[in-house]
Amino acid sequence: MIDNGDGPARVRFAPSPTGHLHLGGLRTALFDWLWARKTEGQFILRIEDTDRRRFDPESMDSLVNGLRWLGLDWDEGPDVGGPCAPYVQSERQQIYGVKAQALVDKGAAYRCYCTPERLAEMREAQRRAGKRTGYDRHCRNLSDEERRQYEAEGAASVIRFAVPLEGVTVFKDLLRGDIEVENRQLQDEILLKADGMPTYHLAAMVDDRLMEITHVLRGEEWLATAPIHKLIVDAFGWEMPVLVHLPVILDPSGKGKMSKRKKMVAGKEFLALVHEFQECGYLPDAMFNFLTNVGWNFDPDQEVFSREEAIERFSLEEINPSAAALPYEKLDWLNGLYIRELTPAALKSALLPFLSRQLGVAESELRSDGKLEILIPVIQERIKRLDEAADWIDWAYQEADTIEYASPKLLIGRKLDAAQSVDMLRSGAELLAEVEPFSAEAIQVAFREKAEELGVKAGSFFGPVRGAISGKKVSPPLFESIEALGREETLERLAHAVAFLEEHMEMASG
Ligand code: GLU
Repeated sequence: MIDNGDGPARVRFAPSPTGHLHLGGLRTALFDWLWARKTEGQFILRIEDTDRRRFDPESMDSLVNGLRWLGLDWDEGPDVGGPCAPYVQSERQQIYGVKAQALVDKGAAYRCYCTPERLAEMREAQRRAGKRTGYDRHCRNLSDEERRQYEAEGAASVIRFAVPLEGVTVFKDLLRGDIEVENRQLQDEILLKADGMPTYHLAAMVDDRLMEITHVLRGEEWLATAPIHKLIVDAFGWEMPVLVHLPVILDPSGKGKMSKRKKMVAGKEFLALVHEFQECGYLPDAMFNFLTNVGWNFDPDQEVFSREEAIERFSLEEINPSAAALPYEKLDWLNGLYIRELTPAALKSALLPFLSRQLGVAESELRSDGKLEILIPVIQERIKRLDEAADWIDWAYQEADTIEYASPKLLIGRKLDAAQSVDMLRSGAELLAEVEPFSAEAIQVAFREKAEELGVKAGSFFGPVRGAISGKKVSPPLFESIEALGREETLERLAHAVAFLEEHMEMASG
């Protein structure tokens, strides 16, 4: 007996491995997981791979990685097993054959021998006559004699569901209430294909029953198939699980359904696939927090919450059935927040693969690199995604003589000319040659004293130095940057910058 009351729920995430996991799929899995954890039930992963033409072997890894990345663990599934194994539908083929035949025996389904050619002609004729296309139920009324004849010829056949010709089907969606559909709007859908594989309609209903699923959470796009599912379940004499169709996720423009790939909207890039979010350096905790609030809301007055709090408060009834656009800015904001909460050591290990890829430096080298110890804490509050870190610190991994100054202006202090700026760089070099210890703090004190002594504003002094060591106008805090580079490397860069400015002065005067 299915217990779909308040007891422990059995929910399944049932993806078809036809491509990379996208955010909509991950949100469905997340809500499944939250409901299973909330009710102390089970979260089941079931692979619906009966459409062999659309099967994409890479998608299995993408699925498993995406779910694990978000921290969604399943209690039963292909890799962990469970009492209802196997959890991959292509390995359960026999079961569906038996169940489909049971419906034929009851008169709720029938064998259809129509050839693809006949079906194509039928559709063409329907189209020409301006009629709705759909199976004309030709085989539904075959005589026993005609059937025997087809079987004797060894004709290929499918099994179709015999939809009642009259009346209405009523099913309930938890968020939308009772929905009524006239049976004459429905088609005699195929349950079992000619190759013996079930269609989604049959396999999902059979497995939801055999796996004792209490709640089915799935995307709103499946709402249209629910009447057929109700009829199939009725024909077997089973009970429907609670149906919860989750709202569509719209792209950031709020117009289109979120696509399955990266999109540009108003000159900004919007990601759609889970691995794209991973590659940009969104943290699982931030994504968890973000996605939990897409279609449901933890609390309008509390944006940040833990997993435990989400489990505690989650409720299916409160899911908002209207489509919503993804607030990507919020994801960036949340991610920045979660990044700031990491310890420097945790941030460093999260950053290593990104920096290694983006800077072209081996991870092992970066791990023992002292510069990062100093630079990571100072960029921590400046980045919203892990892939932004390289831009802040790439200069520290260049050789002094490969630093290119886009323009002499970069090295010229405010209200100073080129010659005065050369003096600033030289004074900086003198000071840095001697300062002890070579720490951000001591360097800062020395620089401020020097500025005072020279009678220049701190900014006019520090600007050229920043430009000289980083080749950039904006960089992490100057004194930590200098400490990270070390004395020798900093002096080389200052000399490089002085040479560049002098050359420029000569050119300007010559
Ligand atoms: N296999 C279906 C999909 O790809 C699952 C739909 C459902 O959850 O019933 O989304």
